[in-house]
Amino acid sequence: MALIELHRLDKRYTTGTLAVQALDLQIAAGEFVALLGPSGCGKSTVLRMVAGLEAPSAGTLVAPEGQATGYVFQEPTLMPWADVFDNVWLPLRIAGMRRAIARHRIEALLQSVGLSEFAHAYPSELSGGMKMRTSIARALVTQPQLLLMDEPFAALDEITRQKLNDDLLGWWQAQRFTALFVTHSVYEAVFLSRRVLVMSGRPGRLVAEVPIDEPYPRGPAFRTSVRYAE
Ligand code: ADP
Ligand code: MG
Repeated sequence: MALIELHRLDKRYTTGTLAVQALDLQIAAGEFVALLGPSGCGKSTVLRMVAGLEAPSAGTLVAPEGQATGYVFQEPTLMPWADVFDNVWLPLRIAGMRRAIARHRIEALLQSVGLSEFAHAYPSELSGGMKMRTSIARALVTQPQLLLMDEPFAALDEITRQKLNDDLLGWWQAQRFTALFVTHSVYEAVFLSRRVLVMSGRPGRLVAEVPIDEPYPRGPAFRTSVRYAE
């Protein structure tokens, strides 16, 4: 059963730009799919449409409701006046869950993303990688069916990025959400996913779909072979 289904989807912005044209794609529940392509080919537009933040101009789209979707941007956008715990609590707070009720769930999540020691640190005290971990925890705290990530690690250094790639696969395997990961790194797309969707052109179209026949968990040998292939 497809969790996400796009059929002949177009997006034309009010400025007149046709950003995405005739996009067909299906993603099954539980998949980890990468969306790869150069800057400007419409990747973020696709993600925003899947999230319901932007309406398609033509075609049909089936995707989980907003509440069942977590979204992670390249810029962590944390509230600077709140500590890590309260930043992660935010989506639950909006949903009406009191701090005391949410505490256990948040503590367990902070533990799994490696932030237990930082629960009461403020964003300004965190490294880029830690801010990204906080942002991912905030996206996962509602236990979403779908996690959309828009070039989340692009601004991080190589070592931090690889560690997050490894950990992300672990969280995905533990929590069983469906993942749609946008990147312009071939390495990252191949390392993370079982299927790479390639977009290109203006307007952006889907130009290729590449299966990655390497089972999880993926060990150091696979990582090295992917690295040298880029
Ligand atoms: P990518 O994420 O692959 O870099 P985008 O989806 O951001 O691509 O952009 C695709 C095209 O749509 C680009 O030409 C961009 O300028 C245009 N675009 C993106 N967002 C908007 C917007 N809010 N209004 C008008 N044009 C936009
Ligand atoms: Mg983008």
